[in-house]
Amino acid sequence: MRRAIRMSTLAQAAAAALVPEPRIVPASVNGRQVFIECPSWCVTDHVAENERYLEDVEHSGELFDLVIPGDSSGYRLLAHARLGADLFAPDPADRQPVVVVDDGAKEHRLTPAEALQHADRLIAHGEQMRELARRAAA
Ligand SMILES: [Zn+2]
Repeated sequence: MRRAIRMSTLAQAAAAALVPEPRIVPASVNGRQVFIECPSWCVTDHVAENERYLEDVEHSGELFDLVIPGDSSGYRLLAHARLGADLFAPDPADRQPVVVVDDGAKEHRLTPAEALQHADRLIAHGEQMRELARRAAA
């Protein structure tokens, strides 16, 4: 399910997440089956997750990887991004879909506006990388 990061696709997915299209899906909570509302972008198998408490159920979208050249393995993962929502967060503001950027050490939960700013920085970095390549080839 992982793809190389394509921010326009992720931004489109974040925008689509703002339009609620919930579906009712089964989930296992402490070994018992319940049914929960799940946004259309969620790819979590809530039965397999089998969270202990209903409040621990979190929705998660497809992962988009950000990689750089690696040594012998080809590429090294820097971070991945996905949509996420904690529908049982105590603060209603935290229940809204966010873009979760995980760098392996920490999860950063970005609002759609923050994610677009982050995407702009990544695009600017890509343009600088392209310029460096042109200069190296000259
Ligand atoms: Zn879900």
